Amino acid sequence: MDVARPLDPAVFPPGTEPSRAWTVVLPRPLRLLPTPGYGATTLGPLVFVHRHDEERGLLAHESVHVWQWRSKGVFGFAASYLLQYLGGLRKGLGANGAYLAISFEEEARRLSGHG
Ligand SMILES: [Zn+2]
Repeated sequence: MDVARPLDPAVFPPGTEPSRAWTVVLPRPLRLLPTPGYGATTLGPLVFVHRHDEERGLLAHESVHVWQWRSKGVFGFAASYLLQYLGGLRKGLGANGAYLAISFEEEARRLSGHG
């Protein structure tokens, strides 16, 4: 099976700008991402998934993150994402609450309609 496949640009929801991206399924011994319990993890243009043919809503959600990475950059997106998460933990929101409160996650849910 191929490790990386191009992400269908049609999954990018309105409000985002499609760009080149790939779904990545790592061989089992290297499968660090996504961690169990998470459907997918996006790093820049790479969407780490369990299977290439993931549910379309999940791919739409992750494509919003591809767009966020691209338009805001490593510091504008990744660093801010991490700081917001840590801020949520400090407020006592718990791991899941802190994750859900991240503005980028709220935006991804709103634009993709997927949780
Ligand atoms: Zn997300």
